[in-house]
Amino acid sequence: MTQDSPFTSERPLRVAVIGSGPSGIYSAESLIKQTEVPTEVDIYDRLPTPYGLVRYGVAPDHLTIKSVTKAFEKTLNDDRVRFLGNVELGRDLSREQLLEHYDAVIYAVGASSDRRLGIPGEDLEGSISATEFVAWYNGHPDAATRNLDLSRVEGVAVIGVGNVALDVSRILAKTADELHTSDIAGHALDMLRGSGVRDVYVMGRRGPAQAKFTTKELREFGELDAANVRLRPEEIQVSEAEEAAITDNVVKKNLEVLRGFGELEARDVPRTVHFRFLVSPTEILGDEQGRVRAIRVEKNRLTESGGAEGTGEFEELPVQLVLRSVGYKGVPLPGVPFDERAGTITNEGGRVTGGAGEYTAGWIKRGPSGVIGTNRKCAADTVNLLLQDASSGALPPRAGSREALDAQLAQLPVYTFEDWQVLDQHEQASGGAAGRPRHKVVHLEEMLTHRRG
Ligand code: NAP
Repeated sequence: MTQDSPFTSERPLRVAVIGSGPSGIYSAESLIKQTEVPTEVDIYDRLPTPYGLVRYGVAPDHLTIKSVTKAFEKTLNDDRVRFLGNVELGRDLSREQLLEHYDAVIYAVGASSDRRLGIPGEDLEGSISATEFVAWYNGHPDAATRNLDLSRVEGVAVIGVGNVALDVSRILAKTADELHTSDIAGHALDMLRGSGVRDVYVMGRRGPAQAKFTTKELREFGELDAANVRLRPEEIQVSEAEEAAITDNVVKKNLEVLRGFGELEARDVPRTVHFRFLVSPTEILGDEQGRVRAIRVEKNRLTESGGAEGTGEFEELPVQLVLRSVGYKGVPLPGVPFDERAGTITNEGGRVTGGAGEYTAGWIKRGPSGVIGTNRKCAADTVNLLLQDASSGALPPRAGSREALDAQLAQLPVYTFEDWQVLDQHEQASGGAAGRPRHKVVHLEEMLTHRRG
């Protein structure tokens, strides 16, 4: 395979990976796991911190999922891999500069925006995307200064029934004591301690058999200290014919768990999570100050093809916060071909369409689906194509020298992996002192003060 490869240990294949979330780090892992094409990898991230959605997306009370960072650390500690944090493509570095110095570039920037509902009232104060809410409670520097007042909120509508909807609903339903052992950002924990939330409505436009969430995540609602679960029996009814046609085990188990919720005794606790199905939001209603006061929903019926169809019957729910959790959406990168409708970089199996040694992996390649591990195979598929191209001579070495590259990097405000390790230690030590797994530093300027030597 390497017969025609122009890359040697003296002049290895130089790859830039943009984004240090799971798909970026798995791309680097795949590149260094093979030995046929000697390779060096630089992983860029616009934030000083690595791990993308593992730090800023995964729910703070799902710490076991975050233990994947142990494997990521191994990759970032490899001599052939460098982490170049705090460098933003388009701000500190152009696509042209990358293409001058690297033989190949892999865009693995994820899907940082969100889909909208397209209904009146969506921009009222108190109507935000779950993406923003997640970024806020996970201490993302872009959301750390967001002023979210939960003390006046009693009712919350969460639109969508995927795992993100379950994450945000669970965080709102948990007590501060339950969240103390999570790595939720300090400002969010303080706000949730004074939360007025009593009712959380999780709403699916189709039936329970069409919900996207997974069973383990659903079960957690039966184990909450201070929240009951409530369902409407008619909304979780599935016809015999529909039930017989279900082949997906996750769907079968979800239905079992939901039916089990229906049989739980109501406890004397302050909160209720209402699972609602076959309802679509049609309007978010505001008060005189332009703040959310209610949401109007239309009841649906399921069509033969599994879609949702309005019945013309409406209902109004008193809520002061609406979190739309209807999926993430990718954002274009300057100069890189983009499919606006899909919200992904235009690509064929990971090769950027018409690109110049450009590839893509993860959510920005295939859309926002799957769990963290899904990105490992996705990244490996992209890297296989890249290595095929490197070996076949389709990826000629770029003229730029290593010295020229390093001179370029010296101009950038780089935060290294060693710097991150200092910050990581600091966060764990300051969290540990308060009996918490970590205390996240949420302001960019403060992050940058924690550096090696
Ligand atoms: P998702 O799984 O695609 O769910 C999106 C939900 O939004 C669906 O229920 C969808 O309903 C609904 N929706 C879309 N447009 C709508 C509209 N206009 N009105 C009402 N509802 C609408 O997306 P996600 O929850 O953002 O999750 C993204 C990925 O991350 C998923 O693969 C998820 O499993 C993963 N994730 C995993 C975990 C975990 O493993 N613990 C945690 C978080 C996220 P329809 O089906 O009717 O379109």
